[in-house]
Amino acid sequence: MKAKKIDHIAIAVKNLDESLKFYKDLLGLEFECIEIVEEQKVKTAFIKVGDTHIELLEPTSNESTVYKFLEKKGEGLHHIAIKVDNIEEYLSNLDNNNVNLIDKEPKIGAKNKKIAFIHPKSTSGVLLEICEEINKSVYPIL
Ligand code: ZN
Repeated sequence: MKAKKIDHIAIAVKNLDESLKFYKDLLGLEFECIEIVEEQKVKTAFIKVGDTHIELLEPTSNESTVYKFLEKKGEGLHHIAIKVDNIEEYLSNLDNNNVNLIDKEPKIGAKNKKIAFIHPKSTSGVLLEICEEINKSVYPIL
């Protein structure tokens, strides 16, 4: 069981289009796609940085956890995502070690990946996502 790499670093933003302009036009980074993830009530934009990504997250509803995050903390670093080979194995191992898991079972996130979050209480204060790619051909681009 080994972690592969940082898949993305996610930043909570109030206005995705405005933030995207900065990352894309001013920093000159490569825009990949915009996707609405219904389950998490967010609109996401992925920006390529080498072989990893920056994910901008804008809430689409005030019931979104990202909306609550923005209310409480303002814009900024929201989570770091680590790509793994077998997310179920990872989660059960963490669970067996009493890690505070937000998701004990993976759910489907942006870019059709299996994702699960680990509570900042267990990670020295950073929301951690672990993810596993399940279908490279499905990138619903809006
Ligand atoms: Zn993420």
